[in-house]
Amino acid sequence: LAMNFRGPFQIRADRNRPVPEIKHPSDAIVRVTRSLICGSDLHLYHGMVPDTRVGMTFGHEFTGVVEAVGSDVQKLKVGDHVLVPFNIACGSCPHCQQELYGNCHEANSEATAVGGFFGYAHTGGGYDGGQAEYVRVPYADVSPTILPEGMDLENAVLLTDVVPTGYQAAEQAGIQKGDTVVVFGAGPIGLMAARFAWFFGAGRVIVIDELDYRLEFARKFSFAEAYNFREMKDPVVFLKKATDWFGADVCIDAVGCEASGHAWQTISGKSLLMQAGTATAFHWAVNSVKKGGIVSIIGVYGPPWNLAPLGSIMNKGLTIRANQASVKRLLPKLIDHIMSGRINPKEIITHRFPLEEIPDAYRMFSKKLDNIIKPLLIPSR
Ligand code: NAD
Ligand code: ZN
Repeated sequence: LAMNFRGPFQIRADRNRPVPEIKHPSDAIVRVTRSLICGSDLHLYHGMVPDTRVGMTFGHEFTGVVEAVGSDVQKLKVGDHVLVPFNIACGSCPHCQQELYGNCHEANSEATAVGGFFGYAHTGGGYDGGQAEYVRVPYADVSPTILPEGMDLENAVLLTDVVPTGYQAAEQAGIQKGDTVVVFGAGPIGLMAARFAWFFGAGRVIVIDELDYRLEFARKFSFAEAYNFREMKDPVVFLKKATDWFGADVCIDAVGCEASGHAWQTISGKSLLMQAGTATAFHWAVNSVKKGGIVSIIGVYGPPWNLAPLGSIMNKGLTIRANQASVKRLLPKLIDHIMSGRINPKEIITHRFPLEEIPDAYRMFSKKLDNIIKPLLIPSR
């Protein structure tokens, strides 16, 4: 059983998927125990990422039990329960050597079928992902990590992306003690980034979204002030006013391209792209950060969202910092934060589905129904 992408807004739970096989001596085959749907999957689901091919299986946030290993694998053995970071990294290229595991030099190299991201478009290597009963895991000795003893499985699966990504959004924002930090987007990534902003010494954390139930969640989970941009005449003026007209020290874009699918409208049963090229949250971030401030982009942008307000960035002397999270680099620190109880990420998992119900899970998450924050899939126990 595996998720099967049939085109934008069309996915299936496919019973006829063959179990993947070892292709390289460094591969492992993993039976998936928990799997999550990410805001990044919604970009694929909405048809926003080039070269997302029909027949793909998505899913880059999963835990599972090792079923088979290739002849070169040394660290893992059959039966180990592992969490698998979303980056596929070779571990030995110059980028991996600098712990830039989200930027592995082998990434996207479909020809050699090494490096990239699980369950993403062919621009990320075209690897099938973990919204499935079984998944092939390349470079099994590099990133997959045996579940820390005593760690809850739902916290473990959130360590494959959401927790490190939120952490890195705050880390790369260069927060100084006492800073005012504005986070755009109260999805799992924004909630986590806002929570971690305090770890870096923020003096004030403000979250902006349009979904009241998520704003309420941000107040409780991220200890943030939270405001609905639909209730503002102009979010930039609102934020300037809230910061003595200087602007925030730091803004974090945890939205990316049309994260909640608002750029699409359904007309006569067909989904149409209504407003290309807006990158609204990023523009708001650039315009509401102070002169000399930092904008941290963690949201994902596929074309045609590459339009940036370059004039404002230059005139204000801004620093823009952006990257794919380097999950493996951050794991030791984040495992410690969870085991010591400083953060309990599983509080954001609001919905649990058997894998068969994956079309419903995508529909609910895309349309933000039933106060959904983060949906979990359970392919096997
Ligand atoms: P999500 O869809 O659950 O959340 C996005 C939120 O943004 C929603 O609550 C939505 O209402 C809100 N939003 C939409 N437009 C907005 C605007 N103009 N201003 C403020 N809020 C707005 O998604 P998520 O899982 O939280 O992911 C968020 C982003 O992070 C996505 O773009 C995803 O692709 C990206 N991401 C990046 C990485 C990385 O390594 N860089 C990893 C994971 C996810
Ligand atoms: Zn993700």
